[in-house]
Amino acid sequence: MQEIKEYVTIKKQKIKEYIDALSVKPKLVIVQVNEDKASCAYVNGKLKDLSEIGAVGELIKLDINVSQDELLSVIERLNKDESVDGFIVQMPLPKQIDEEVIKRSVIPIKDVDGFNPLSTYLSATPKGILTYLEDNDFEFNGKNAVILGRSNIVGKPMHDILLNKNMNVTVLHSKTSEEDRKFYIEHADLIVVAIGKKYYLDNRYNFKDNCIVMDVGINRDVDNHLYGDCVPDLKVKFQSPVPRGVGLLTRLSLTLNLIECYKFRHK
Ligand code: NAD
Repeated sequence: MQEIKEYVTIKKQKIKEYIDALSVKPKLVIVQVNEDKASCAYVNGKLKDLSEIGAVGELIKLDINVSQDELLSVIERLNKDESVDGFIVQMPLPKQIDEEVIKRSVIPIKDVDGFNPLSTYLSATPKGILTYLEDNDFEFNGKNAVILGRSNIVGKPMHDILLNKNMNVTVLHSKTSEEDRKFYIEHADLIVVAIGKKYYLDNRYNFKDNCIVMDVGINRDVDNHLYGDCVPDLKVKFQSPVPRGVGLLTRLSLTLNLIECYKFRHK
C-alpha cells in the first residue's frame, strides 16, 4: 500500500491539472458556527487543500448564538447561489441547532460532505477509504471486512460501500461480546476502526497476515497530541497512521466530491 501522504499529494496534483484547464473554477463554501479548536484546524486544512488545487474556497463564520432559522436562511441562499458548486456546514453545531435538520437542508447536488441521506455523493470519510483501497488494488471480492463503530457518518455508510464491493461485512459495536469480537477481528482481511477511543485496537488479537487496518479515530489526549483508535504497531500487513492517514483521505474526498458537483452543474 502506498504511503497515504504521498498518495494524496499525487491525487491532488491530478485534480489541480484538471482545474487549471477550466475557465470557471469550482467554488466551495464552508459555513462554520463554532470556535471549536479541532473544527478550526479542519476548516483551515480544507481551505488549504482548495487553494492548492486551484479551486475557490470561502469561509462564512456565523456567531455561536445564531438561531437555527438564521442558519437555515444562509443554507437556502447557498442552495440557490449559482456561483457556488458545493458547500459544507462544519460540525459540531451549537446546542440550539438540530444537526439532523441542518444536514437534510443542504441541497443533495451541493452536499460535498455527503451527510444528507439523499445526497448524490458518498460520505467523505468512507469514500476516502474506498478510493484509497481501490487505487492500491485491494481485493474486495469475497473477503471479510470488519467495521468497529456504527455512526451515521462513518460506520454505517462504510458498511454499505464495502457490501457493494462484494465483501462479507460485519459491524461490531459497544454491545458485541469479547468472544465474538475476537472471532470476527481474527478472520478479517480489512478492519475499519471508527469508535473514538485512543489505542482501542491492539495486539491482543491474532490478526490475519494479510490484514489491512484503516484507523479513522482522531483522539486528542491531555498532552494535546492526536492518537488513533489503534496502537501504532499492529501486527498486520498495513495500518493507516494517525495523524496523516484517514484524515487526509477524507479531505481528498471533499475535493473529489466538489469536482463531481462542478461537473454535474456545468454539464
Ligand atoms: P461516534 O463518535 O459518533 O460514535 C462512536 C461509535 O463507536 C458508536 O457507533 C459506538 O457504538 C461505537 N463504539 C464504541 N465503543 C465501541 C467498541 N468498544 N467496539 C465497537 N464499537 C464501539 O463515531 P464517529 O463520528 O464515526 O467518530 C469515531 C472516531 O472517528 C472519532 O475519533 C472521530 O473523531 C473520528 N473521525 C475521524 C474522521 C477522519 O476524517 N479521520 C472523520 C470522522 C470521524
